[in-house]
Amino acid sequence: MTGNSKWRFDTQVIHAAQTPEEWKWATQAPIFQTASHRFETAEELSDVFAGRKPGFIYQRLRNPTNQTLEKRMTLLEGGLDAVVTGSGMAAVTDAILAICRAGDEIVSGNSLFMSTFLLFNNVFKKFGIQVKLAESADLDAWKAAVTDKTRLLFVETIGNPKMDVPNIRALAELAHANRAPLIVDNTLATPYLFRPFEHGADVVVHSTTKYLNGHGSAVGGVVIDAGRFDWPADKYADFSLYKERKGKLAYIDRVWREIHINFGTSQAPLHSYLTLIGLDTLALRMERHQSNAIKVAEFLQGHGRVKWVNFPGLPASPAHEAAKAQFEGKGYGALLTFGLEDEKACFEFIRRLKLVYHLANLGDCKTLAIHPWSSQYVTFTEDARRANGITPDLVRVSVGIEAVEDILEDIDQALGTV
Ligand code: PLP
Repeated sequence: MTGNSKWRFDTQVIHAAQTPEEWKWATQAPIFQTASHRFETAEELSDVFAGRKPGFIYQRLRNPTNQTLEKRMTLLEGGLDAVVTGSGMAAVTDAILAICRAGDEIVSGNSLFMSTFLLFNNVFKKFGIQVKLAESADLDAWKAAVTDKTRLLFVETIGNPKMDVPNIRALAELAHANRAPLIVDNTLATPYLFRPFEHGADVVVHSTTKYLNGHGSAVGGVVIDAGRFDWPADKYADFSLYKERKGKLAYIDRVWREIHINFGTSQAPLHSYLTLIGLDTLALRMERHQSNAIKVAEFLQGHGRVKWVNFPGLPASPAHEAAKAQFEGKGYGALLTFGLEDEKACFEFIRRLKLVYHLANLGDCKTLAIHPWSSQYVTFTEDARRANGITPDLVRVSVGIEAVEDILEDIDQALGTV
């Protein structure tokens, strides 16, 4: 397998985890589009099923194309091993269900992607898992929510769509003081901007659908394990078998063996291939995303029709200082929200857009806009929408990598007519 720990991030995104001989010297990972793999002897298949030998059996279990993405993402995040999943939500589900049982508690930041919020508040409740929400950037709120039943802490690096930036190192310390792991959803930052393991996190999840893919061509996710959390026996007795069998790989083995395989959360090999193609240009795209986002935010801030702008890159943002320190000046992400007069003005703005796409996604190389109040959150109660940072006057923009002048001209002409 190719890889060189001395290579810089921008090189790793392209070259890490290639296996040229297995790929017949192709420069892209082959797509192993097969449900099953053949074995010559019953002994061989038995060895692989029993874990005595590595191998590929059936796509829901493991697939060589998926494995290339697992290995590359492991290297990019600085982890020990990973499992790719059929979506970002599958990654969140796999990561948490490998740890929690009925009666457990989770403490999570309250700034959550919509489906994660629904999963935590509605679905996990049915399984007897209680999720306590703490104000993401308020460490005291987290401290007050942690109890001896807390099995894990969960947070998003940049809250979607509140745009808050919690202190990951402080949360990792709080988690560890309470002998619990910290899971970080790093979708909005990507390892280009921030590597949670370097700040003490134990598990990282991503929706690869967003910046990692970058072209809106495939839905996917990944769970990456740092392999550092030691699952103390008195609190996580149900991990002892996995620890005995896999040592530092206990958690990721459990994600895979217990949840991923049996819930059927696997990724289509074609989607891993498309994500790998996207990853090749991650560093370059992220650089442009960062510089464009600042310019769009500043433009909106200075526009007479815009009431407010929420973007961590603006000095006026409450998240500015935390983001600057945590992302070490590399940028502030490329998602922002802004306010117009009212819902009608937002609809009018969206209707007038010509270059910017109106759709429910983010992290694409194309600039995207949406009115979350009337779309993703339309089935939420008004109170729940406001608690999630959604108001009727809010437009969310995922800033793409087009020529920034064209993005600004399109936004300007759409605003000008509001
Ligand atoms: N996490 C975050 C922060 C997201 O923004 C999203 C989707 O927007 C998800 C998870 C879910 O990802 P997917 O749509 O790939 O299931």
